[in-house]
Amino acid sequence: MSEWFTEKHTDFAKFLIKTKENVFSGESEFQKIDIFDTQEFGKILVIDGFVNVTEKDEFIYHDMITHVPMATNPDIKKVLVIGGGDGGTVRELTRYKEIEKIVMVEIDSMVVEAAKKYLPLTSEKLDDSRVTLLIDDGIKYVKQTDEIFDLIIIDSTDPIGPGEGLFSQDFYNDCYKRLSDDGIMVNQNESPYYEDTAMEMKRASAKLAATFPLMKVYQFHMPSYPSGHWLFGFASKKYDPVKDLKKEQWEALGIQTQYYNTDLHVGCFMLPTYVKEMLKGNRERI
Ligand code: SAM
Repeated sequence: MSEWFTEKHTDFAKFLIKTKENVFSGESEFQKIDIFDTQEFGKILVIDGFVNVTEKDEFIYHDMITHVPMATNPDIKKVLVIGGGDGGTVRELTRYKEIEKIVMVEIDSMVVEAAKKYLPLTSEKLDDSRVTLLIDDGIKYVKQTDEIFDLIIIDSTDPIGPGEGLFSQDFYNDCYKRLSDDGIMVNQNESPYYEDTAMEMKRASAKLAATFPLMKVYQFHMPSYPSGHWLFGFASKKYDPVKDLKKEQWEALGIQTQYYNTDLHVGCFMLPTYVKEMLKGNRERI
């Protein structure tokens, strides 16, 4: 029997997806996890009532979280992924032969196990020999490890539950220390559109701008997320993602993508006026 999955976007707006089947439901010590099969979006991973991944539009999210930093510095060798339990970010990273080591720190083994079983599209490369998967709190990991990475990707849930600390100043400071001298950090930076996510977006951007010499946000179009307009943060010790884009070097790698390309790489940093306004005076607003 099919039903409607409903996600609350605001007190006055909801998003409905017709489901065909409830494929998996579980409650871990951290969060509630559901996977539904749907006509429109394929299988969808829902955490605490919020769509995290859908088979239909995951390529947009995973292309943009991965290829933007990789085309800025295609010589990246060591990558840390925090969160990302569905495996989509790791899948994209494994397409780079030049990457030698990927450490993924995901707090919730139930997300990984469910993704391995029901979402092979995203989880298929979690067993790649270059991947070390640690089931641990990413906040604790960056505080304790002495490893240095060229790229840190924070592929987190929203700043509620276990994901809350992944938006804190303390965590960003620890990430900065774990990055090489030309290191880059990319984070899930929420949406500028609705009031609640816009507030989180402004807060996270301000903290990152106070931590890194360069911080920009870039946008992508994500049909299954609230408003469909979403941002990643690009924080860096050295590289400017637009000025330092290695267009020829990246294109020579021959990586086939469905959403990312080097024209879009430049375009995604060009922001609507209302988003620019929100980010004005960033360094003061922590
Ligand atoms: N694309 C998704 C989105 O933005 O909605 C996020 C993908 S991924 C499923 C997010 C993962 O972050 C979840 O599996 C969650 O368990 C993990 N996570 C949340 N807090 C974490 C923490 N403190 N350390 C490590 N992983 C964490």
